Amino acid sequence: MLGVGLSTACMCVCCGGEMTPYSTWVSQCRGCGFMASTLASGGGTGVDGLEELRRGNYERILTRLERLHPMAGARVLDVGSARGWFIEAALARGAAAQGVEPEHANAELCRERGLQVESGFFPQDLADRGPFELVTFNDVFEHLPEPAAAAVAAEALLRPGGLLVLNVPSSRGALFRLSAVLARLGLPGPYERLWQKEFASPHVSYFARRSLAALIGRHTDLTLVDSFSLPSVSRNGLVARVSGSHG
Ligand SMILES: [Zn+2]
Repeated sequence: MLGVGLSTACMCVCCGGEMTPYSTWVSQCRGCGFMASTLASGGGTGVDGLEELRRGNYERILTRLERLHPMAGARVLDVGSARGWFIEAALARGAAAQGVEPEHANAELCRERGLQVESGFFPQDLADRGPFELVTFNDVFEHLPEPAAAAVAAEALLRPGGLLVLNVPSSRGALFRLSAVLARLGLPGPYERLWQKEFASPHVSYFARRSLAALIGRHTDLTLVDSFSLPSVSRNGLVARVSGSHG
């Protein structure tokens, strides 16, 4: 466990706007639409049945990234690498990919398959401090209790011109919006499922492109270079590059 979720009565971590109650355990920013839950974050994964979808999306992300940065030889850190699927996909494209993973059994499984994965939480347990050409968060960023701190820590590990990749579920996705309507009509099941409310590691945050871009702009010197939707109706990818004279 990393701690408890964000307070429902506070300033938006993304844009500094006012958070207002959305439901008893979710608040939403009036400015950028960022949503925060009071669900306690944890290190568990709940990826059963998602392998095909996730592996497909990782290929799409890497194909997109190759337009921005060559993969061959690039040092890649996948944060919360779970069962190592993104690492495998990046290795297949010639990247020097490694990971850090809080769930020990997952990390062990990866190492048994020859993947380079450290056990522990990001960033405090990370031994290899880079620098990296790419730092990626696939289905991870929405679980973190302090996303701004994670973005800052990731930025510090990037080489000039390096890329931060955030692959998160989107609150603008059709499924999510439909589930919110159903919840207001007294059918909270799908909404609670999309927040992974009863899971070991529920979603602490729900971002959209606007809120994610605001978070990056407010807390880091990264520049947004690409943003795109992934086939699952409720996902959104965002890529930001280290800016400045080296960028
Ligand atoms: Zn906001």
